[in-house]
Amino acid sequence: MTDLSQKLREFFMVPNFEECEKILCVQPHPDDADISMGATVSKLSEKGVKVYYLTVTDGGAGSQDQKIVGQRLSEIRKSEQQNAARILGVHELIWLDFEDLGDYTIEQVRTKTAEYIRKIKPDIVFTVDPFLVYEVHPDHIKTGMGASQATSLYRLPKVCPGTTDHEVKAISFFNTAFPNTFYEIEQRHLEKKLLAIAQHRSQFDEKSLQMLSFYLTERAKYNEKLVEAFKVLPPTMLHVMPEAVKF
Ligand SMILES: [Zn+2]
Repeated sequence: MTDLSQKLREFFMVPNFEECEKILCVQPHPDDADISMGATVSKLSEKGVKVYYLTVTDGGAGSQDQKIVGQRLSEIRKSEQQNAARILGVHELIWLDFEDLGDYTIEQVRTKTAEYIRKIKPDIVFTVDPFLVYEVHPDHIKTGMGASQATSLYRLPKVCPGTTDHEVKAISFFNTAFPNTFYEIEQRHLEKKLLAIAQHRSQFDEKSLQMLSFYLTERAKYNEKLVEAFKVLPPTMLHVMPEAVKF
C-alpha cells in the first residue's frame, strides 16, 4: 500500500459490515451472492443487518439442456434462490429480470440499481468485481460495472430523477483479485452457505457441488481463520482515483 493510499484509508472511513443497518447485494444470476458471500450474508443477517438481493438477470440461460432454458429455467432458479435465501436469512429478493446473456446494457443496470439504492437506502452496495482479470462473462461484467456506476452516480437526477439525501458509505466487491477486507466467519456460517448453494440444483450436480464445496472451503482459509474476502472502497474512489488500486 502506498503512503497516499494509507492516508486516504484514514481519511475515508469505510464502515464495518456489522455497523450496517441494510446492505444491497447486486448479483448477475441467482446463486452468485450465495457462492461468493453467502457466509457473510448468514452472519450479518444473524446480527440483524437487513440483506437485500438484487438479481439482474432471470437466470434463464444457465443450462446446457435446450429443453428447459428460458422461462421454465428462470422459474426453477427463482425458487432455488428463495430456498437459499431462507437458509441465509436474506430479508428481500428483488428481480430485474433482464434476459440472461441478453443484450441489455450497463446503462440499464445502472438506472435500475440507482433506483433501488434510492429506495432501499443501503449502507453498503456489494457486487461482483467488474475489474476481475480474465472475467469474460458478459452478465458479470455488466452487473459489476452497472452497479458500480450506480453507486457512484445515484444522486444525479440525470441517472435517477428527483433528489436523495441518502449516502452509500462503501462499495464492496466480491470475487475480487484485489481483496483489502477479510471478513471473519464461523464454521456454521460456511456450512449454511454450502447448504444454500446446494439449493441451486439446476446448476450443480453432486460431483460439481462437491468440487465447489472443496474450493470454497479452501478459499475461506486465511491465517488460521475462516473468511470471505472483499475489495471495499468508499464510493468517491470509483472515479479519477488511481489510489483505489492499492486502497
Ligand atoms: Zn453468475
